[in-house]
Amino acid sequence: MTCTRCNHDACKRFGYFGKKHIQRWRCTSCKTTFSEPVPRLDSHYTDLDTAARVLELMMEGTSVRAISHLTGLDISTILDLMVTAGNKCQRLLDALIRNVRPNLVQADELHSFAATRNGCVPTLRRNGGGVDLAGA
Ligand SMILES: [Zn+2]
Repeated sequence: MTCTRCNHDACKRFGYFGKKHIQRWRCTSCKTTFSEPVPRLDSHYTDLDTAARVLELMMEGTSVRAISHLTGLDISTILDLMVTAGNKCQRLLDALIRNVRPNLVQADELHSFAATRNGCVPTLRRNGGGVDLAGA
């Protein structure tokens, strides 16, 4: 283990910390105690493996409530992870995809109502007034 303050390599185990039993270390040179640095996803306390599992379940179409049940995370935590993942994806696409000038755009799975049931048509349009979008 390398000291976080002086980068000295000789550190000894120095007990545990917290509910999760996090290993503490003590530098033999400067006597600083520290815990092993944990890689984090922005400001989330959720470890990366759990965050990856949440995103994997999300991509499979699992509901947020089911993901909460399977992973033991709170629903708001899962929704925050979704926002973080979306923002990171947006930044990645903005950084990688540049100067694309498409000649043809194929937009799949766009849905729109072009027709409506007769009961939903306003009286004005039924009597010939307004714009008729049915059959457009
Ligand atoms: Zn040190």
